[in-house]
This record gives sequence, structure tokens and C-alpha cells, in this order.
Amino acid sequence: MQAYKVMLEEDDLPRHWYNVVPDLPEPLPPPLKPNGEAVRPSNLEPIFPRGLIRQEFSRDRFISIPGEVLEVYRLWRPTPLYRAWRLERALKTPAEIYYKYEGVSPPGSHKPNTAVAQAYYNMREGVKRLTTETGAGQWGSALAFATNIFGLKCTVYMVRVSYEQKPYRRVLMQLWGAEVVPSPSRRTRAGRSVLERDPESPGSLGIAISEAIEDAATHDDTKYSLGSVLNHVLLHQTIVGLEAIKQMELIDRYPDVIIGCVGGGSNFAGLSYPFYYMEVSGKAPTKAEFIAVEPTACPSMTRGVYTYDHGDTARLTPLLKMYTLGHDFMPPPIHAGGLRYHGAAPSLSLLVRKGVYRSVAYNQVEVFEAARLFSRTEGIVPAPESAHAVKAVIDVALEAKRKGERKVVLFNLSGHGLLDLKAYDEFLAGKLPPYEYPRELVAKSVEKLYSLYPWVRGQSRGA
Ligand SMILES: *Cc1c(COP(=O)(O)O)cnc(C)c1O
Repeated sequence: MQAYKVMLEEDDLPRHWYNVVPDLPEPLPPPLKPNGEAVRPSNLEPIFPRGLIRQEFSRDRFISIPGEVLEVYRLWRPTPLYRAWRLERALKTPAEIYYKYEGVSPPGSHKPNTAVAQAYYNMREGVKRLTTETGAGQWGSALAFATNIFGLKCTVYMVRVSYEQKPYRRVLMQLWGAEVVPSPSRRTRAGRSVLERDPESPGSLGIAISEAIEDAATHDDTKYSLGSVLNHVLLHQTIVGLEAIKQMELIDRYPDVIIGCVGGGSNFAGLSYPFYYMEVSGKAPTKAEFIAVEPTACPSMTRGVYTYDHGDTARLTPLLKMYTLGHDFMPPPIHAGGLRYHGAAPSLSLLVRKGVYRSVAYNQVEVFEAARLFSRTEGIVPAPESAHAVKAVIDVALEAKRKGERKVVLFNLSGHGLLDLKAYDEFLAGKLPPYEYPRELVAKSVEKLYSLYPWVRGQSRGA
């Protein structure tokens, strides 16, 4: 059967998430405190509910999805799997290109898959308010959507440049009942200390994370919520890949190449980990290639160092072993393509480190070029983040054409770009320069990290 769109029934919704941790090629290095001691689950209780902490440290392979979460997922899940026929034709490639489309959720991205689960577990434990950070607003709007459904309050620290330049997702958050605070703010010590040094600070995700954590840690009825990177977040996203496996089975296909963009790693892990499980459990008919795509403006996996680092600027989070550009990374303001986080999920970092996954980087001009071709052939306007995956897909499809290979390519179209048209406007006006983050800045940040924590240097041997 030649499919344009493969749909599942509501009753086909997966009933469990997949946890990759027990199946990694090596044990996952544990999160550590600044003194090098392992973080204990109880250490995280001031900021996370116990249900999520259990998942964060869990070694169970499958974790069942609560009925109330499934009920909310049904609003937009299962999501469609499309075949990109017109893109294939435009490229004249023998490759078959499929994409899982996560832009059909109310906030327009994959992020509510975890936001809904997180709001649910917090609600169950009597938490009254969640705090979080957001850059362009996708995560903040996903959490605002989810907290509203489960009757929690929500405070979103939004990176100030985005707050000023990207009003639409702020409006969405406010419409769903969240309070949105431009960060750095005067509400937290972390924010005030940045403003003292630089009253004009445009903010960064790292600073906003620090503010959101401080707010949660200093209020009893409040917890913090993170939209990527952590094990439990990646776990919730695996519903994407678990659905995709069923959809590919319906059309009798299995992917040769699986591609996704990476900020913190959640959408790509969500699509790819269930396929990785097919492989490690001997159920996959062929071995797939996994390609993680990031911007040259924030190249954690292609230029970063694999070492222990904090997840935030104010060094409030535990240290995680991951690819990092240094926790003081500041994305260039001329960069429009999203994916601005300095690190990447520990499990994904380990898989890249072990050579199971490969990483590539593209600059924003070639990425928006790819997004234009995709919009013209497939109609859907990709989120600038997802457009990184589109660019890699096009490259793989063109290579298949040169080699005459009938490859099956699957990627995650993690969101739509209808609230990112300002970036598209700048691209069409030729105002987006290609940008590469300088290697020297990575080296400088990492040296600073080593002088802060001498024990970290020994942890990054060969990195
Ligand atoms: C947030 C976001 C990303 C990047 O985050 P990951 O955790 O790496 O998935 C990618 N695509 C879209 C549409 C997003 O909103």
C-alpha cells in the first residue's frame, strides 16, 4: 500500500512509556553534587514530586501511563505519520521519507507529551504551583496548557529577548492562565545578581532555569518542571516512537535512518529510543542509523566536551555527565533557529559518545532553506528547530540519490512554525547570517569549569 498518511485509532495509544536506561551500552553516569558525591533521590524532593523522581532513577524498562494522562493525550494523540511524497519528488530521490508530526498538539509541538505527565504527577502529590523557564515559549506554553488542565498555577520565567521579540507564545501562556515573568527578573536572587552585573541582560535559558528553580525551592507548595534533558522527560516522549513503530508496521516498513533535531534531546529520544530498543532486543529487521541534528550556533554534541557540568548558569542543578558547551554559554542574538541549550541529555550524550548515534550540525541559513523547500512541497511550515532535522533528511535523501539507494528515512517533525514567522520573515529578507559558535569559547568555558571543580577534569578523559 502506498500511504500518504498513516493513522492509528485512539485505542491503539501505547499504554506504557519506554525507559532506555537499562538498555544503554554502559551504565548511565549518575548525577553528582558539586563536591563529586552522587545525588540521592531525596535530594531532589524540594523541586520535584516523588512520582517523577522515581522515574528519574528508575531502571524499569516499561512504565505504565496513568489513565488520566492517556485521557489528555487523546486530545491530539495518536499523531499522524506522513510520507513526504512531494518532497521526495522534488529531490528526485529513490529514498522514502516519513515523518511523525507532533505539531498537531494544542501548543503545536511534542512538548505537551511530558508537560501533561509532569502536571499530573505534581497534582497527585498536592503541589499547587509549577515554575519553569522558557526560551521561544514552546515549553512554557506546553506547561501552561498542562497545568491549566490539572488545576495547577504556573509561573514561567521567559528569556527577556524572547519575551520582547516573540509575543505570541506569551499570549498563549497567559490565555491558558500562566503568569509570565521576563528573565532575568528582580524576583529571585539569581535574577537580581545578573541584573546587577548587566542591567541590560537579554537573558538566557540558563539564567531562567536558575530563577525557576530558586522560586520552587523557596516555596513549599511549588515545584519546578523541566522540558527536556532529564530521564523522566525523555521517558514521557517515547510515546512518539512507540506509535511510530506501529505505524511503520502497518505499511510494512522499517526505517534505515532515523533523524531528529536536538536541543536538550527529548523529541529525538522520544522518536528514536523505541527503535533503539527494537535493535537491542533483537526485534528489528535491519539496523538503523541514528542522526542527531543541532545548530552550528549551539553545537553541544559536535563541538562540546563530554564531561560533568551544571544544567544552569547559577549552578543550582546537579552536575550531569553530558556533551556541554559550558554552563555559561550565551547564544548569539542573531541566531533564530531555537535549540539554544548548552548541554544535551545524559542518555543521548552517552549514545553519541559510544558511536551508536551520530551527530551533525547545520547553520541557520541552510536550515531555513530546507524549511522553505519543505513548506513548498509538504505545506506544513516546520518549527525552526524541526527544520534542522529537515535539512539533515534532505542531505540523506540526496546522498541516497547519488548512490541509487532505496533508503527508508524517518524523522520527527517536532512542531509547526506558525508562531515563528518572524524568523521566517528575517530569512526571506536575507537578514539571517550563517553563524558558528567559536571553538575557543567552548575551550574557555570548560577550563573555567575545571578550575571550579578540579575532579571534573578526571571525569572527561579522552573527551
Ligand atoms: C523545544 C523544542 C525542540 C528542542 O527540544 P528537544 O528537547 O531537543 O526536543 C525541538 N523542536 C521543537 C518544536 C521544540 O519546541
